[in-house]
Amino acid sequence: MGFLDNILGEKKRCDICNKELGRVFGKRKLEDGIMCPDCESKLSPFFDGRRSSTVAQIKDQLEYRAANARIVANFQPTRLIEAQKRIMIDENSGTFLITGGGSNWRDRNPDVIYLKSITGCKVDIKESKTKIEPPEEDKTQAAEPAKPQPFGVRPQPPAPVPAEPQYEYHYDIDMTIFVNHPYFDEIHLDITPHSLDSNTSAEYQKYEDLAYEIREALTGEKPPVRGINNPVFQAAFNMGAQYQQARENAAAQAEAEAMAQAAAKAQAQADALAAAAARAQQKANKQSGLY
Ligand SMILES: [Zn+2]
Repeated sequence: MGFLDNILGEKKRCDICNKELGRVFGKRKLEDGIMCPDCESKLSPFFDGRRSSTVAQIKDQLEYRAANARIVANFQPTRLIEAQKRIMIDENSGTFLITGGGSNWRDRNPDVIYLKSITGCKVDIKESKTKIEPPEEDKTQAAEPAKPQPFGVRPQPPAPVPAEPQYEYHYDIDMTIFVNHPYFDEIHLDITPHSLDSNTSAEYQKYEDLAYEIREALTGEKPPVRGINNPVFQAAFNMGAQYQQARENAAAQAEAEAMAQAAAKAQAQADALAAAAARAQQKANKQSGLY
């Protein structure tokens, strides 16, 4: 062993392909060994469990990936959806794949996945807000005037009055496809290329539609009624719900009144019967000579 070997340890080899690795860089840890960057690049792009995988598991996956490459060579998409990634569906074999743009997509060996292995597909619309800092002059304008101080006391600078915080809103749409697969169980897709400032703009609507189009293509699940998130639709929906509630209240009120009337009628009948009984009793008493 040379001087460097004494300091840095022996050179190591990739446990997968046996290539010699650098002493410091280029080692990828496995649970029970190491692999080289070349071997790592052949793993599924959706796989994130390298550190907890054994050498044997990685070898299995690379076998699966080699078989996948042969399937990709014959993959004939019948439907294509362009989002931030490209979703290709082969309706004849009931499979799909997700890949980047460009004509060399087969070279990246995208995993070919059965549509029927999809267990769910979730569209996520994320709203975030950031505080808008008011301009400096607004802050000083909002300050209270200095209070008069007794002679000899230095006047305190006025305390600034905090302005009402203003926010701007941002919207991001992404989705998660859940799959039954030996090497990964979730695929994340960004739908919006960047945060959008409005959730009522045509641009926002376009990306929302795109997300639901992808979900429908993969799962058959219909998109929600268009405009359900639109404030105008929401207001109309709320008015409808209030109207329905008012109708139900009126019906309940009418029912209660009808019941009260029926009760009053029954009471009147009972009173009349009691009065008749009393008269009959009086009559009977008279006849029996008690009076
Ligand atoms: Zn290797």
